[in-house]
Amino acid sequence: MDNSALLKEVEDNCREANLPLKDGATNLVFGKGNMNASIMFIGESPGRNEDEQGVPFVGAAGKNLDKLLECAGLTMNDVYIANILKYRPPENRNPSSEEIKTHTPWLIEQIKAIKPKVICSLGNYSTKFFLALGNVDLMEKQAGITTVHGKIRIIEMDGLKIKLIPLFHPAAIIYNRSLIGDWEKDMEIVKKEISHKTVF
Ligand code: URA
Repeated sequence: MDNSALLKEVEDNCREANLPLKDGATNLVFGKGNMNASIMFIGESPGRNEDEQGVPFVGAAGKNLDKLLECAGLTMNDVYIANILKYRPPENRNPSSEEIKTHTPWLIEQIKAIKPKVICSLGNYSTKFFLALGNVDLMEKQAGITTVHGKIRIIEMDGLKIKLIPLFHPAAIIYNRSLIGDWEKDMEIVKKEISHKTVF
């Protein structure tokens, strides 16, 4: 099965699944971008705009992400974008451990379908999630994004080997423009990694 057929199947099954947060949400927010991309960006959870449209990163953070991709000489066609959580937590509250635990298998299936060379966690929350190997109880102990951005880590989650490169969240860059220089340097590292022939 090719990436798009497999991903469609995962999305259909995810839509049918009885996930927490589903009842209070307007739409499933599964993913967007190129299903054959070498780079996958992963944020935390959908906000109000994303919930209304059923598409990740369409609000202010998403608009900034589009500009930041352009800065790095990339377009939406070079990446696939998703969140850890597939439904919006009410009032954008932090997700509970249970919500993350039940949503994680869908993210893993999504990654397996896309098979990116590099995963970029966007922001502190998503980065700590990956560094804790998806173990919510260990997230607090992980180093923050300011320390680990642009640093490559090879991690293994649910039998899946991931090359992780944490990046600042595009929303953080809206409020702190001095992070643009860091973003550009980090994206150079990402671009170098995807140009390698072998994945690991
Ligand atoms: N922030 C995220 O982490 N994800 C979105 O989809 C939107 C904003």
